[in-house]
Amino acid sequence: MPNFDVVVIGAGNGGLAAALTLAKAGRSVLLLERHNIPGGCATSFIRGNFEFEVALHQLSGLGSRERPGPLRASLSNMGVLDKLEFVEMQNLYRVIFPDRIDITLKAERGAVVDELCRFFPKESNSIQRFFDLVYSFSQQLVEGIFFRDPNISKDKYPLYFKYAFRNTQEVLDDHFRDPLLKTILSVYWGYMGVPPKQLPFGDLAVLLWAYIEFKPYHLKGGSQALSNALFDTFLQHGGKARLNCAATKILVENGKIQGVITEQGERIETKCVVSNASIIQTYIDLIDRKEIPLSQLDYFKSKTIGPSAFTLYLGLDCNPLDLGIHEATNFILATTDMNRAFDLWRTLEPQEWALFTCYDVSDPDFSPPGKCQAALVALQYAEPWYLVPPYQYAQTKYRYAENMLKLAESVFPGLRDQIEEAEAATPLTHLRYLGHPDGAIYGFDQFAKDSAYFRTNHSHIKGLYHTGAWVAGGGFQPTLTSGLSTARSILKSTKNK
Ligand SMILES: Cc1cc2nc3c(=O)[nH]c(=O)nc-3n(C[C@H](O)[C@H](O)[C@H](O)COP(=O)(O)OP(=O)(O)OC[C@H]3O[C@@H](n4cnc5c(N)ncnc54)[C@H](O)[C@@H]3O)c2cc1C
Repeated sequence: MPNFDVVVIGAGNGGLAAALTLAKAGRSVLLLERHNIPGGCATSFIRGNFEFEVALHQLSGLGSRERPGPLRASLSNMGVLDKLEFVEMQNLYRVIFPDRIDITLKAERGAVVDELCRFFPKESNSIQRFFDLVYSFSQQLVEGIFFRDPNISKDKYPLYFKYAFRNTQEVLDDHFRDPLLKTILSVYWGYMGVPPKQLPFGDLAVLLWAYIEFKPYHLKGGSQALSNALFDTFLQHGGKARLNCAATKILVENGKIQGVITEQGERIETKCVVSNASIIQTYIDLIDRKEIPLSQLDYFKSKTIGPSAFTLYLGLDCNPLDLGIHEATNFILATTDMNRAFDLWRTLEPQEWALFTCYDVSDPDFSPPGKCQAALVALQYAEPWYLVPPYQYAQTKYRYAENMLKLAESVFPGLRDQIEEAEAATPLTHLRYLGHPDGAIYGFDQFAKDSAYFRTNHSHIKGLYHTGAWVAGGGFQPTLTSGLSTARSILKSTKNK
């Protein structure tokens, strides 16, 4: 019977980072992945002339060689940094609200403030004050929390204690009058899946600060290049992997891990499992009921499953500039009421917040010569899709895609005429490929009470660990970091064994 120090279930960012770190440290590791390629969300697929990027829009936390961000160190520790090529994006984003505003913000603090003051001169002082707060808050967060100051206190880090959990909407209302300005400043809320009214200000502040300080990055070859680099390096360190091979059972006896059963019915012996599958699937589907700690079931009661996404992947038979696409990251809005935009995620109605990313603006080699690709994304909860009868699914998907296309055409007229390939993914597509409940791409809803401060990668079952969005929050940087930290917890706890 095969025997491994650790079995990692799932080859998403978290699973790959954990598996690689453990193999690099000399542990025998088996990585099981139900899909036929590694990556989870961090993947690509091919249609006609195009290899479409599934998930990555703006990589955060990387930084440059001169001003490195935390992700750079993580990728370097895993030995994959030099295998990847990155392109720094000059701008944070363009926000377009047709007939109302079209503004592009550079990834540079002074330039962001200047541009916002130019568009909103009456609010100049408040704009300055807001960015002072974003920066001072983030500095306190880094010094107090990230660097784990043992003497952390309210007196030492007053802004952190005052603002970390205040909701973003309140802080915006304290500073500004113009709803358009508030919308532009908080447009990244979609990256967290939580509207400003529920988004902890600390999350938005640190997101803005990190994207400005460390810049957004494009990854050459897309997120599949990252997944392949992690996977190949894992194999080079002696790791073993099985693709097309789901784990169907995690064996637990008396509160301790004993092994894993694969979908082929094979039993693998191990005392340690890292699960990158959703924490819900891990307990409810993979572990025997009698072995699930009651506290774990209680934990689920306070959680709600976060959003998935609808994405229209477009392969275009032209260069970006032919359609007036000069920015990689474009937020297209039809409302300044972000609560309304969020409520629409639970319906199949035309959406009023969308992200339009054209990868070829950052990387002209991303698509074949003379062509480019764009991803048009709206976040979506799965509920309305469950209610669509199977015989109406295709029709519903195309109607939804048509509405998304109309929104994009209000900014890029003629877009439709250049489409060479198109594919649409709904929450049900993500459910099918990831196996996560409701096709959630960020794990649980990331409300203040569910934020990273209150999560852990440990389990009440001895030898069971978690990694990925369901325990660390969604996104590339958090999930990769979570894989590393889960691996480090395991190495620490087994150091002298
Ligand atoms: C459309 C879209 C856009 C996004 N945009 C961005 C963005 O711009 N920036 C950003 O930072 N993040 C973005 N994200 C989110 C980000 O991609 C995810 O949060 C992150 O990649 C999740 O990583 P993870 O480690 O949680 O693993 P996941 O990617 O969730 O992968 C889990 C893996 O486990 C496997 N698995 C599940 N069950 C089993 C089992 N029983 N046995 C074996 N294998 C199993 C699955 O097949 C999968 O490969 C986006 C995601 C999507 C889908």
